Order: sequence, then C-alpha cells, then structure tokens
Amino acid sequence: MIVARDISEFQRARALLGASVGFVPTMGALHAGHSSLIQQAKAHNEATIVSIFVNPTQFLEGEDWDAYPRQEMHDLAMCQSLGVDIVFMPTIEAMYGSDELAIMAPCKAGYVLEGATRPGHFGGMLQIVMKLLNLTRPTRAYFGKKDAQQLALIIKMVKEYFMNVKIVPCEIVRDESGLALSSRNAYLSTTQKVQALALSQSLHRASSLIEQNQLDCAILKEQILEVLQGVDRVDYAEIVNRNFEVIQTIDKNNTIILVAAYLGTTRLIDNLWV
Ligand code: AMP
Repeated sequence: MIVARDISEFQRARALLGASVGFVPTMGALHAGHSSLIQQAKAHNEATIVSIFVNPTQFLEGEDWDAYPRQEMHDLAMCQSLGVDIVFMPTIEAMYGSDELAIMAPCKAGYVLEGATRPGHFGGMLQIVMKLLNLTRPTRAYFGKKDAQQLALIIKMVKEYFMNVKIVPCEIVRDESGLALSSRNAYLSTTQKVQALALSQSLHRASSLIEQNQLDCAILKEQILEVLQGVDRVDYAEIVNRNFEVIQTIDKNNTIILVAAYLGTTRLIDNLWV
C-alpha cells in the first residue's frame, strides 16, 4: 500500500494502477461505515484509492474542524488490512492555494436542511470532491447514503459538469443498537449514546407507520418528533423527495426522511430512504 502525501507522489502512484479504479473519499477516523464503502470499491474495481482529508472549506466558522478526530495510524492499518492500493493523505497546502476558485452549491437543494443549518458547507464539500475526483480519475466513486444530501449534490455535480465517473451510493451502516456509525459518535458520552438512539428510532417509527400505509407526512412528522424528544435539541425532521423538496404525502419510490439533532454540542444526522 502506498501512502501519498503530496500531489506528485500521488500522481506517480496513480499512473501505475490498473484499468478500473474505485475511489472512497473520507475525512478519516475510519469505522465500519467507511470499510463497507472500501469493500465495495475493492469488489468492483481492479484497484482502490482512499483519501483521508479533513477538508477545512466544508467546515463553518465555529464548527469542529480542530476537534475532528484524527487517527492516522488506526486509519492506515485499517486501509492496509482491507487491501487498499493507495491512501492519499494530502496537506491543506497541497490541496488549496490562495484566492481559490469556488464552487457554488445549487441555490435550492444546497441551501435546505444541512445547507440551511450549515450555509456554505456544501460549496466547500463540492469543491474538495471535484478536486479529488479530478486527481484520482476513478472509474467509480463510493459515497454513503448516511450523507443523503451530500450524495444527491455530488450526483448532480457529476451530471451537470459532464464528469466521467460513476457515483455508487452505499447503504448506511449501523451499530447493533441501530445508531448510524459516524466519526462524530466519538464525541458522545455513554449517556448521550443512549439518547442518540432516538434518531434511528424515530426513523424506525416512521418506517413502521408507512408499512401500515400511513402516508400523511404531517402525521409521520409528529410521530418522528415525539420519539426525538429524547435528544437535547432537534435541528430538523423533514420528509422530502429526491430533489430535497418537502412533500405532503409519501411516495414509496421517491422519499427520504431526514433528521438532525444535538446531543450536547454534538450534532448527528440520520435518514431513511423509503
Ligand atoms: P466522512 O469521513 O464522514 O466524510 O465519510 C466518508 C464517506 O463515508 C461518506 O461518503 C459518508 O457518507 C460515508 N459514511 C460515513 N458514515 C457512514 C455509515 N454509517 N454508513 C455508510 N456510509 C457512511
């Protein structure tokens, strides 16, 4: 496994890879959610690249960029054991110059839900994903449904900018209690981990009601919010179509239910693709 920290080192290693390349971009502190993406990349492609970069431009002022968990040794050991070919771990200076050209998230889908709470987040995210896709030139790139809005915006960028890569959406990996795995779960105390179960449980409640043919989003939202009483503060609970427009009635082929909530100062998200 090659660990490349600067662009030319990366490009030399990239030039030696086979015909099909799978790419998994991450911010590190790798967990089983990340490894499921890496395993899929391994299964579908001749070679696999993982990037680890805590991208400053997608964090807002006052967010947790400084505190974000960094576990280089652990991450490299995990990539090695999964058979990754190249780990790209660039410095900020390698990725960004001064007076950078920016990418704007779309005015509608980029500024609701996550984009409303974190204005500017998706512009920074699209900027780094564009840079990483251009550098890695993968056949396929793997993204988790855990970050549903991020995934949708990346699919939109790839389509609208005629980028030659297949985006592969990957299912959400949860722990045995149902909590969606996230690097930010490391911030939670034992009590908060129990409280955090309200997120997945609220989605579970909605899913059971939908199975019983309750398709009225107002009623479903009430039920979701009732379960979410277990958290410290709800940021949003919303039911949208795949364009991230709020809907009134569940369409079983085109609905995502999303929740975001705080446990203390930690903000977690979860979602359910109906
Ligand atoms: P991150 O390191 O949090 O930026 O995540 C890197 C990639 O892993 C993104 O595509 C995430 O959506 C995905 N991911 C993170 N957590 C999970 C999870 N629990 N299940 C599936 N994918 C995940």
